[in-house]
Amino acid sequence: MKRFTMTRVGDIDEALQASQGAPARYVAGGTTLVDLMRQDVERPEHVIAINRLALATIDAAADGGLVLGALATNSAVAHHPRVRAEYRVLAEAILSGATTQIRNMATTGGNLLQRTRCIYFRDPHAACNKREPGSGCPAITGFNRNLAVLGTSEHCIATNPSDQNVALMALDARISVRSAAGARTIPIGEFFVLPGATPNIETTLQPGELIVAATLPPMRGWRSHYLKLRDRQSYEFALASAAVAVQLAGTTVTDVRIALGGVGTIPWRAPEAEAALRGATVSRTAFRAAAEIALNGAQSQSENAFKIELATRCLTQALIEVTA
Ligand SMILES: Cc1cc2nc3c(=O)[nH]c(=O)nc-3n(C[C@H](O)[C@H](O)[C@H](O)COP(=O)(O)OP(=O)(O)OC[C@H]3O[C@@H](n4cnc5c(N)ncnc54)[C@H](O)[C@@H]3O)c2cc1C
Ligand code: SF4
Repeated sequence: MKRFTMTRVGDIDEALQASQGAPARYVAGGTTLVDLMRQDVERPEHVIAINRLALATIDAAADGGLVLGALATNSAVAHHPRVRAEYRVLAEAILSGATTQIRNMATTGGNLLQRTRCIYFRDPHAACNKREPGSGCPAITGFNRNLAVLGTSEHCIATNPSDQNVALMALDARISVRSAAGARTIPIGEFFVLPGATPNIETTLQPGELIVAATLPPMRGWRSHYLKLRDRQSYEFALASAAVAVQLAGTTVTDVRIALGGVGTIPWRAPEAEAALRGATVSRTAFRAAAEIALNGAQSQSENAFKIELATRCLTQALIEVTA
């Protein structure tokens, strides 16, 4: 592990001040960053421990939504009574991931920025455009069974591994950030960046910006659900997952939001599939047709073609379950 200095900060201004100067990284629960530093994949010169900041709150938003503080742990969010009642998709997504111990440490902000599980990215001796821009992408001809089929480029096919973020995408969350220049809010649809020719850039967050909250819109009257398919039932990342939220009038879908996990280089929103379902009558046929639309344009590699049908079935089943 490269040598680094560490500062523990007590308030947001102190955190922003500490992030000026040498390349710095915030650390919250540490369940992503510390692993990557130990593996010599991430090499920050300066680490800023933010876990004492007053950002672990979960509060009602003025519009009736819910504000998740960046340091609210994944466990606290998943078990919050309003999340369980009104944002079931988020509770189910979080509880499908990792382990109780990790969820007790993992934070909302840290989860937003967790890194891919591509094995080449996590091996500092391998080439990897995401870790070392311009070095190549061995996954395209190598081990790619768990990698992406949507949003890929010739430079990177890594999957965004998060479950939480797929639910946040379907919920249209807004990410609030602070920097020395002020505050801004990023719609989650504009937070993640496709790999293109620069897979090392994963989000629109700027250096030194601190995530302070993720805000969920009011969702009363919606039903929602997260379905995750993986090689084993616990302690495993998604091969394919679907986050769905629907509003029904009788058996008619009046509104719907869909996001896919495990198959995209970013948490994958499916607006064309949503459009196809608005006004449709609940049926397996309509759901399967929408799921096929969601996977339109999917591009597989040597080992992951199975994901296209798996994700199609996953989304179809998630829609059947949420409307049952
Ligand atoms: C064994 C294992 C299994 C896992 N399984 C799953 C799974 O099945 N599904 C799943 O979704 N996840 C899984 N995870 C990932 C886990 O959810 C993440 O590691 C966790 O959410 C990261 O949160 P953290 O607070 O620990 O982040 P940290 O490690 O503290 O930080 C992660 C990144 O975010 C940055 N950061 C943190 N907070 C902020 C902030 N407020 N503002 C700006 N930058 C910030 C850090 O600089 C760092 O780059 C697993 C992790 C492990 C170790
Ligand atoms: S898929 Fe992306 S993360 Fe994996 S080796 Fe290629 S460039 Fe690196």
